[in-house]
Amino acid sequence: MQRIVIAIDGYSGCGKSSTAKAVAKMLDYTYIDSGAMYRAATLHFQNNHVMLSNQKEVDKNLENLQITFHVNPDNGNQETFLNGINVEDEIRSMKISQYVSEVSKIKEVRAALVAQQQHLGRKKGVVMDGRDISTVVFPEAELKIFMSADLKIRAERRQKELLEKGDVVALDKIVENLAERDETDSTRKESPLIKAEDAVELNTSYLGFEEQVNQIVELAKKRIGIDDNEYGSNH
Ligand code: C5P
Repeated sequence: MQRIVIAIDGYSGCGKSSTAKAVAKMLDYTYIDSGAMYRAATLHFQNNHVMLSNQKEVDKNLENLQITFHVNPDNGNQETFLNGINVEDEIRSMKISQYVSEVSKIKEVRAALVAQQQHLGRKKGVVMDGRDISTVVFPEAELKIFMSADLKIRAERRQKELLEKGDVVALDKIVENLAERDETDSTRKESPLIKAEDAVELNTSYLGFEEQVNQIVELAKKRIGIDDNEYGSNH
């Protein structure tokens, strides 16, 4: 059975990661969260007090940056490791969210992470989400999705997620952070967030989670060239 690359790009907090994860599960594909890689790089720079304007320091710290993903056997969730340490919770904090877009603007950071992402997806059968997956990482992806949702709705969803982890953050602070990241990510010089010409646009403001996952899975099956019954028995 042909395996494809599914690239999902879009604004911060519109449910890309949870959607991509569920799509990967339904297709028995590998899910790769490229945002987690930029977040882990940000934590690495913070831990090492790297001055982002100091090119040498940035380069040196990129050399000893190792990001891996491992499935937690207790809950089946994929978790992010930075130089062998589980940083899954830490990289989701506001401390990282507030700084990550500055780190992801840097050309050398992007070059290093894009190379890793392309390596991870070289065998296909992957769902990768981010900002430049359809345009830079996998411009030849067989299925490209561009996700968006109203800012307030995105902020409410993000607030709920943080609260579930015991992190109480005011809604206006989240709105501000998402808006700032949208602006920085869309206007930066290096690989800005833009919709690829051949991407399918999906506004998830008023879509239920299952509905958005199913829409992408249906599109994927069409690209793979199979119908429902066939997929169930052959993959
Ligand atoms: O997807 P998530 O919100 O976790 O991404 C965090 C940040 O990482 C984004 O705001 C963006 O600055 C950066 N990013 C990126 N390119 C990607 C994925 C994420 O620049 N492919």
